[in-house]
Amino acid sequence: MNDIKDKNYQEELAKARSELEMLYDIGNAMRTTLNLEEILYIILTAATSHTGLSFNRSMLFLVNKKENRLEGTMGIGPDSAEDASKIWTYIEKNKIGLEELIGIETQFEQLKKSKLNQTIKSIKIPIMEDSGVIALTALEGMPFIINTPEAKQKVKNEISSLLNLDEFVTVPLKAKDKVIGVLLADNRFNQKPITSGAIRILTMFANQAGLAIENSRLYEQTVVLSNSDSLTGLWHHGYFQYLLGEEIKRCSLVKSYFTLFLIDIDNFKIFNDTYGHQAGDAIIREISRIFKDVSRKIDIVARYGGEEFAIILPMTKKEEAMILAERIRKAVETSPSLKNITVSIGVASFPEDGQKKEDILSKADKALYEAKGSGRNKICA
Ligand code: GH3
Ligand code: MG
Ligand code: MG
Repeated sequence: MNDIKDKNYQEELAKARSELEMLYDIGNAMRTTLNLEEILYIILTAATSHTGLSFNRSMLFLVNKKENRLEGTMGIGPDSAEDASKIWTYIEKNKIGLEELIGIETQFEQLKKSKLNQTIKSIKIPIMEDSGVIALTALEGMPFIINTPEAKQKVKNEISSLLNLDEFVTVPLKAKDKVIGVLLADNRFNQKPITSGAIRILTMFANQAGLAIENSRLYEQTVVLSNSDSLTGLWHHGYFQYLLGEEIKRCSLVKSYFTLFLIDIDNFKIFNDTYGHQAGDAIIREISRIFKDVSRKIDIVARYGGEEFAIILPMTKKEEAMILAERIRKAVETSPSLKNITVSIGVASFPEDGQKKEDILSKADKALYEAKGSGRNKICA
């Protein structure tokens, strides 16, 4: 009798020890980066890796406080049972551990294309009592395990069928007692039952993950704030210079291209002299908003100087850029809140107008000068 007890005890101890080691490994992995995407990827990889928590699939929803909803952010897992067995056989055979799994760059790229990840990204769930178990996890701040026929029946809704959910578990991600997201995991492909032990360790893991996410967000906010111009929220001159340099490096390396706009408000001195500096500041702010609105997500919009702006348009040839420049010029000219205000735009493209930062900038500056010289409210390349 005592022998059996002792054996159970030893087994428990060994298990607890390996769980702790695993949490320690995952914690270390999460400390290797402050990049939010990478952190999320590590969290989900840890939840699905066989040396980690070994769920078949894991999905992450982050709280958007402003909209009071959960937004699907990332999902990891095979798209089909076939995929599943292919991936797991490969991992077993090559004895790939958590560390390597996280380091596999191609996997990160692969992930972004997976069907599960695409589906997840389309999901938005209002944080309300009646919007299902994922929302409830965030509301109550506690885990839910859906593993009985009654429970499964109860949680059936659009999202569970979209994700092919049957038996699954959700845990809140917390940072300093605030719920910042929900982690959902299941064993869709091997149908392994989800045990209370698994939930206990998943909860511990989720607390660690929540803090890591919060840290990386705070860091990203700090980076954004310290590199932004306080009047407009656009990138300031120094950071623009840095980003331009990075863009040139990137384009030289992969033989890509970009176009640069330098934009200057026309006759702004007269406006200031007539209406005062505060009214002028309001114009600068409004113009910045229009630039952000009209440009694309990948474009880099900066306040270059007082009433001068710069926009980097990655992967954009001059021809296409001219269309965007015209859209910007027109948007300012026709904006009801910018009566009589116009801008001139100088355009230069990498690599044809120069290979160095100074050359590109001076070409764009010359073009801007030309636009001013030919009557303002113009675009020159
Ligand atoms: P141009 O059409 O040739 O550009 O004429 P301009 O009068 O706009 O000349 P310039 O580009 O040299 O404009 C500089 C003026 O812009 C000086 C100043 O009155 C105004 N300005 C620069 N920075 C600020 C700012 O931060 N706030 C305000 N309100 N005005 C600014
Ligand atoms: Mg100027
Ligand atoms: Mg001006």
